Amino acid sequence: MPRPSAERREDLVALYREVRGCTLCPLHESRTQAVFGNGNADADLMLVGEAPGAHEDAQGVPFVGRAGQLLDELLAEQGLSRLDVFVTNVLKSRPPGNRDPQPDEIQTCRPYLERQVELIEPRVICTLGNFATKLLSGSPRGITQVHGTAQERELGGRGVRLYPLFHPAAALRTPRVKEQLREDFARLPELLAMGLPAPAGGPPTRPSGREGAESVAESLGRTTDGDRPEPEPPGRDQLGLFG
Ligand code: URA
Repeated sequence: MPRPSAERREDLVALYREVRGCTLCPLHESRTQAVFGNGNADADLMLVGEAPGAHEDAQGVPFVGRAGQLLDELLAEQGLSRLDVFVTNVLKSRPPGNRDPQPDEIQTCRPYLERQVELIEPRVICTLGNFATKLLSGSPRGITQVHGTAQERELGGRGVRLYPLFHPAAALRTPRVKEQLREDFARLPELLAMGLPAPAGGPPTRPSGREGAESVAESLGRTTDGDRPEPEPPGRDQLGLFG
């Protein structure tokens, strides 16, 4: 039985509160705040990055630095904005010095991401880079091998299309990766228009199209000066970002 979007949203807000107060791993000691993710709580498209960086840790919003600007640009080219999608990360807390997420941190944070997928019910999940791709595909195959090809998976009890993409930060470093990322992004409208894959042993859980999907994002405090975030009032409650 599909759950009404208002009910799922209520649970997402409860999960948000849980994540904001999370002390399950030592990263809570060095972070400024946990970054839950934001956007449309009923989005057809979810994007999953690696972990908050310095700007995200300061603002409490995912992908607000230069990589986030590129992400916004690539979404806009496909007629999408942050108001249409939900953006989050494998880790909700910043690893000190932007080091790679550690396996124990990924495993500790994993249930939060799984619950987000279950509550948002996306039809397509873009995994950005190796960490998100390996975690959600359950395969050790790296992003260079698997980018740009959708995989049918069962996540959160539903069939979903996983669409691995290069991480925007990698695209900023290497022009050829940026070109490839742009090409892969161009397939998104086609993927979003496809019906849901059936979960193992069951029929598709939702017909195509979402009537009256509720937008829950407000302005995301986009950066205007390279990678420098605009100042945010300290202690701003991220719940505002859910409307
Ligand atoms: N890189 C990520 O993977 N996530 C962010 O939120 C920002 C940069």
